[in-house]
Amino acid sequence: MDYISTRGSAPAVGAAEAILTGLAPDGGLYVPASLPGVDFASLRGCTYPQIAFAVLRGFLPEYEDDFLQGILAQTYGDAFGGKAGHLVQLDEDLFSLELWHGPTCAFKDYALQLLPRLIAQARRFRGEVDTTRILVATSGDTGTAALNGFADREGTDICVFYPVDGTSEIQRLQMVTQEGGNINVFAVRGNFDDAQRGVKAAFSDAGLARNLAGQGVRLSSANSINWGRLVPQIVYYATSYLHLWEQGILRYGDKLDFCVPTGNFGDILAGYYAKALGLPIGRLLCASNKNNVLADFLETGRYSAKRSFFKTSSPSMDILVSSNLERLLYHAAGSHEAVCGWMAQLAETGEYTVDAHTLSAIRATFRAGWADENAVYDEIRHMHNQYGYLCDPHTAVAFRVWQQQPGHATRPTVVLSTASPFKFPGHVLSALGRPIPKNEFDALRALEDHSGVAAPASLAGLAQKPVRFNATLLPEDIPAITLTL
Ligand SMILES: *Cc1c(COP(=O)(O)O)cnc(C)c1O
Repeated sequence: MDYISTRGSAPAVGAAEAILTGLAPDGGLYVPASLPGVDFASLRGCTYPQIAFAVLRGFLPEYEDDFLQGILAQTYGDAFGGKAGHLVQLDEDLFSLELWHGPTCAFKDYALQLLPRLIAQARRFRGEVDTTRILVATSGDTGTAALNGFADREGTDICVFYPVDGTSEIQRLQMVTQEGGNINVFAVRGNFDDAQRGVKAAFSDAGLARNLAGQGVRLSSANSINWGRLVPQIVYYATSYLHLWEQGILRYGDKLDFCVPTGNFGDILAGYYAKALGLPIGRLLCASNKNNVLADFLETGRYSAKRSFFKTSSPSMDILVSSNLERLLYHAAGSHEAVCGWMAQLAETGEYTVDAHTLSAIRATFRAGWADENAVYDEIRHMHNQYGYLCDPHTAVAFRVWQQQPGHATRPTVVLSTASPFKFPGHVLSALGRPIPKNEFDALRALEDHSGVAAPASLAGLAQKPVRFNATLLPEDIPAITLTL
């Protein structure tokens, strides 16, 4: 199967090449040129790795079946404690898909535990002898999940840059205590955008690329524009549907809705591909926090990043330019020229408006809503009082947006729960009206005591792990430091 760029002026490539390069050379994103068929109804009773294999094999034809089956069993077995795709019923028609039972307690583990294995094999296909050096700018979850996924993977090393005051203490400790001989972590003075700018400068520095090549190093990216980040996320939409069918909650063919807390539009776009493959999905509900640029776009067709940026309790959704939306625009409009036009307008003026045909193609599947900070805290409290269910602020955004939809309780819906509540114990305690201890580990224990739920061991144990990385640098030092690792 070929992958083509959304912008239409880069050569088509195979899956392995798309995964190894990340961004297409014309600045677009790789999308599959056609979609493989998946017979979902035949997968009743299958395990998570088996369903993953049925979904992924058509998208990754160069990867041999044995190899794929092997890495899928390794990835979604022990590392997820037998809880890959774990679904919890809260009400007759309401389910929470808990995607945080992986090693770093956020949904990004689904892709970032698999991606290093796909990259390692892509290197073999290409006969790559150079080291693949992964650079990541992160506001928290991506860096943590990427470090864990790439630690001690042959042929690769990874360097993560996080804003010095931009992450929670737990997220910071997850990064700076990560073990592995091929990893590096730096705090960057400034905010996430400063760190991101430094990393982008490294990627676009031709002199640096030459120097790195002299050392046998080639840079690559693990952020969510990489097709290898997106494709593993299709699987849990399918496992959710099949599970509800097996439980007799659905008959095969009944429509199932999903509500997704959204930032860069990768997770929800995987649901769009699941539907395009033939899974009986009804609506995909895109949930935003106070940074509601996507909610406005999906309602009106006008995308405007010219607005204030808010720091919220759901930091992984604090984003004004959602990169993966470009893929949806391409599929909905069916035109490279249209996508190039909108992306050029976005770069020049900070906004664009799609035509009526494209908007109605999008709205055939998508609905949207958003929740401000009061509503999020309210919802954390409501979920706890009503269902005895503890949820993190990202997940609470989604529950709230689901509640706001007219007729929401009449359609079975799966809400994607993207992070463990114990990653954000201060916000959760505060929403529940409890005092917040200063130290985050005291907060974690207070939340355990209050809720009667045990925190994931990988978070509770962080306080005892030695800190390995404590260097801080300026954003402009990022390109140079990538040479000296
Ligand atoms: C990354 C992240 C999101 C947003 O996912 P996108 O694919 O960027 O839309 C939501 N919640 C959590 C906890 C995340 O880490």
